[in-house]
Amino acid sequence: GTALRVPTDVTLAAGTGADLAVAARQRCDEGFDVLKLKVGTDAAGDLERVRAVRAAVGPQVRLRLDANQGWTPREAVRVIRGVEDAGLDVELVEQPVARWDLDGMAWVADRVDVPILADEAVFGVRDLVAVIRRRAADLVNVKLAKCGGLRPARTLLELAREHGMGTLVGSMMESQVGVGAAASLAAAYRTSAVSDLDAAWWLAWSPVRGGLRYEGATVVLPDAPGLGITAVTETKIQHRG
Ligand SMILES: [Mg+2]
Repeated sequence: GTALRVPTDVTLAAGTGADLAVAARQRCDEGFDVLKLKVGTDAAGDLERVRAVRAAVGPQVRLRLDANQGWTPREAVRVIRGVEDAGLDVELVEQPVARWDLDGMAWVADRVDVPILADEAVFGVRDLVAVIRRRAADLVNVKLAKCGGLRPARTLLELAREHGMGTLVGSMMESQVGVGAAASLAAAYRTSAVSDLDAAWWLAWSPVRGGLRYEGATVVLPDAPGLGITAVTETKIQHRG
């Protein structure tokens, strides 16, 4: 790809509404404008957590939720409808129910307006075909560590796009090496939703020389071949700026 700048969201770890509000404001001060909020640990409190974050950041910041398979289908519909009815303006909800429950996820997707993003439900191409057949999700989160590398990831992105599904590129808790590869994919393939590539931002220092760096909410790729990494290092190299 020719693009060297890939915007990313940043994740707010699960916590109380008050903790999340503080963390959300901090991340916005650091330049992020898409926040991913972990929910699904306790359906009863999830609506209040989303409300606390929305109140803390105001209407301009985009909020997305990741339930990490934590809800039953009924809980998912109850919480998501609650979010909708409260006007909390959530961009998408990631993996609301167990990864194996595609019928449950389709049942949820059918009953709410907020788009549903499949994560754990889609590792490889066969999984994505099953999701498409059942209309179980509106978007898919493509991660290199799930699907096995750049080539299958490209296939997933193309397959999703051909079937009118939205896409985004995410990562596991990875360093500049893995995130650099994922950001390169996103730069080359243009996804429909902002990438989820904050993993390396959380590291205190980069373990490599060269490679990506973060500028606020943007992953900046080096203008160099491959990942642009020139050495593994013990030196503490700053990678945020
Ligand atoms: Mg996820």
